[in-house]
Amino acid sequence: MKRYQELPIGGVIPGGATPHLVQTGGWRSGKKPSFNEKLCVNCLLCWAHCPEATIVVERLQMRGFSYDHCKGCGICSQVCPTQAITMVEEAKSKPTSSPAKAGEEVCV
Ligand code: SF4
Ligand code: SF4
Repeated sequence: MKRYQELPIGGVIPGGATPHLVQTGGWRSGKKPSFNEKLCVNCLLCWAHCPEATIVVERLQMRGFSYDHCKGCGICSQVCPTQAITMVEEAKSKPTSSPAKAGEEVCV
């Protein structure tokens, strides 16, 4: 195994990268999470487990998802202890994207 000093230098994104500048939810799995606020106990397990950081939290309250970045993996629905999150079929035509422009968080 090569030492790290022997590996080729990787790419550099000048200025750093931010998901707020790009919408990566366009290739979602075919399902998307749906939130039932009445069942939520605000444990924030969904927020802690979402690999895309798409759970929208405002003032320590779970508010929904940023569909601009959600990949439909379903982890949030699996960890939710109250079934407040369920996975629903995506519209056949194309994945739902948030109507707001990239970078703006959208709740459902
Ligand atoms: S489906 Fe996956 S990416 Fe989308 S909000 Fe849930 S955990 Fe995050
Ligand atoms: S995991 Fe379920 S109960 Fe906990 S904050 Fe998320 S939606 Fe609410």
